[in-house]
Amino acid sequence: MSAKLLEGKIIAGKIKEDLKREIAGFREKPKLVSIEVGENAASAVYIKSQKRNAENLGIEYELKTLDAKITQQGLIEEIKKLNQDKTVSGIIVQLPLPKEIDHKVVMSAITPEKDAEGMHPENLGRVLLGSAKLAPCTAKAAMELIESTGVNLYGKEAVVVGHSEIVGKPLSMLLLNKFVTTCVCHIATGERGVLPEHVKRAEILVVAVGKAGLVRGDWIREGAIVIDVGINRVGDKLVGDVEFEKASEKAAFITPVPGGVGPLTVTMLMKNVVESFKMSL
Ligand code: NAP
Repeated sequence: MSAKLLEGKIIAGKIKEDLKREIAGFREKPKLVSIEVGENAASAVYIKSQKRNAENLGIEYELKTLDAKITQQGLIEEIKKLNQDKTVSGIIVQLPLPKEIDHKVVMSAITPEKDAEGMHPENLGRVLLGSAKLAPCTAKAAMELIESTGVNLYGKEAVVVGHSEIVGKPLSMLLLNKFVTTCVCHIATGERGVLPEHVKRAEILVVAVGKAGLVRGDWIREGAIVIDVGINRVGDKLVGDVEFEKASEKAAFITPVPGGVGPLTVTMLMKNVVESFKMSL
């Protein structure tokens, strides 16, 4: 293997040290409130990781488990109370929500200043304007990994595969803000059969789709930075969207799955909470 591994845990470790030092200097502690509607096995693992990360950094973490039968309006009322509560720095609503509740309406009820996930329309708008303090955590994590390579990004060709609101779209804006020439691929690119030719041009490739082995190793441009956001369970293993072994022979930098983007995503959540706390001072 020739590619250098971009290990999220190591990069996250450095950011966490800085955050810990910064938080230790505050007179009061930032607080993250996590809301779940009913208990859900799918979000339990994220909640555990958020709690552990928050507490290790000195951020207070409170989990509010609401009745599974709560209405959308009832949930919004709970969020409004937290919006008003001066002791709360950040709010996160765990997904999935019951199907009767529109998660976009709920996310928009969080005041933009306490939007720990950076998904409020106002914060997404600021990503577009290049003035975001709070941006979607996974997109920020991918950007952090790209920047950790030390490669000069100015004028480089990036291809982002996947145009979801949490990863592909905001990340394409973050890249554009750094003067990276950015191409975004999606399902229609795949269906038209032109995904390989786009990927082959990428000096920076980010894949966030959720299909194991979608991007073949022989499509990777020599010397590329490859950020694999995808997480797929294949048998008893977790794998990304990129054929890791073959891609590693051509890339200069590549993220492992697991251990690449994942550990940084939760760190970016903590960074957003600290940012919100500082805005409230
Ligand atoms: P998503 O909302 O399902 O989005 C997937 C995107 O891929 C969509 O834009 C979809 O296009 C596009 N797509 C589907 N098939 C394609 C194809 N054949 N060629 C090109 N594009 C295609 O998923 P997501 O929430 O962004 O997550 C993507 C992956 O990242 C998942 O595996 C998820 O588990 C992982 N993830 C990891 C982290 C982390 O912290 N490591 C965080 C979030 C997500 P259309 O919408 O047009 O169908």
